[in-house]
Amino acid sequence: ETDKMKSFEELESTVRSYSRGWPTVFAKAKGYKIWDTDDNEYIDFFAGAGVLNYGHNDDSMQEKMIDYIRNNGILHSLDMGSTSRKEFLERFKEVILEPRNLDYKVMFPGPTGTNSVESALKIARKVTGRDTVISFTNAFHGMTIGSLSVTANSFKRHGAGIPLHHAVSMPFDNYMEDQDSIAYLERFLEDGGSGVALPAAIILETVQGEGGINAARMDWLKKVEELCKRWDILLIIDDVQAGCGRTGTFFSFEPAGIDPDIVCLSKSIGGAGLPMALTLIKPEFDQWGPGEHNGTFRGNNLAFIGAIEALDYWKTDDFSHAIKEKGSSLHKGIQAIIDKYPELKATHRGRGLMQGIAVAKPELTDVICSEAFQRGLIIETSGPQDEVIKFLPPLIIDEKGLQQGLSILDESIKAALN
Ligand code: PMP
Repeated sequence: ETDKMKSFEELESTVRSYSRGWPTVFAKAKGYKIWDTDDNEYIDFFAGAGVLNYGHNDDSMQEKMIDYIRNNGILHSLDMGSTSRKEFLERFKEVILEPRNLDYKVMFPGPTGTNSVESALKIARKVTGRDTVISFTNAFHGMTIGSLSVTANSFKRHGAGIPLHHAVSMPFDNYMEDQDSIAYLERFLEDGGSGVALPAAIILETVQGEGGINAARMDWLKKVEELCKRWDILLIIDDVQAGCGRTGTFFSFEPAGIDPDIVCLSKSIGGAGLPMALTLIKPEFDQWGPGEHNGTFRGNNLAFIGAIEALDYWKTDDFSHAIKEKGSSLHKGIQAIIDKYPELKATHRGRGLMQGIAVAKPELTDVICSEAFQRGLIIETSGPQDEVIKFLPPLIIDEKGLQQGLSILDESIKAALN
């Protein structure tokens, strides 16, 4: 670690629990690039774990946010209406919901993805009058006690099942080779003797981000929806990481043709990287009483300004097509690298611009990420053993940036294997 880093760490709480894969201090960023205080340039294939889908400091978001502040726009208004909130809600309906024939009430549950998940669990329990929630192996839904109880590996994070002891984990798609996880889930729901009470909700990520870029198949998602309908269970899609275009469509579940009851959005919904979250609720389930879910920072007006600009990307299908094209180019590049290094015993995962390489020896991924950092590429690992290198480049990246990142990855793997 550099001296610069050491002096910085002396100031920071020793309880900081993030990994320290990037021992430098970053100073500025634009688009898909980020620079440290020594002006070293890095390509950002991490993008705040899905926060920076539109890249760092998008020109028009930056301009609109600066104008807003300069014109004394409201920065904090608690529950009072504001022009930025009103405009965001109107534009979100017009650009995202209506063209997709989706009918949701929009709630601002608090600034983070975790806040959105908490509100979704609470509303599902309230409207169904049931307690149990089913989640899946390798799921990640947040860091509070409630969201941790539907998160896999929560014992590692000191939150295992404290309030929601009726949380049950079922095998995600492809978790068990040659076994039908839908039949398993169905059997548990049917069987009063299984110990699983009829759940209020099933919560899932269509592509598990922290859990290792596990992409559910579309027909699997459809079958989960069918089971939910059959038993009147609410389907909650946690689109915090896979949403906002990450997988090629605004909502990750669009290609499956499903119609979730509740959708959690955060990370890139604010566009410019400011904290913002939404919980989308089918109108008939919007049954909150006054004060049942409030909070001081439920709606960040400056984040709304970035969020409004971000919606412009979705006015036509061009952005979606571009993401899919870049996704295939990244997939091709990753596959070529996998083929070039058979000793990695690696496999490709993911869809859109949410992809990963799973390697047979988990201890290699950290070495590869650190070699990549030294060569100017920011990548992160995920999965229960950190066995997956994940790629989440900003969606606005160009072909040149993708190829540059891939060639650094290639050199880093070569170095790590030596
Ligand atoms: N759900 C998913 C799918 C996530 O990936 C994350 C964050 N990695 C969260 C919820 C929690 O979001 P936050 O960190 O903003 O609380």
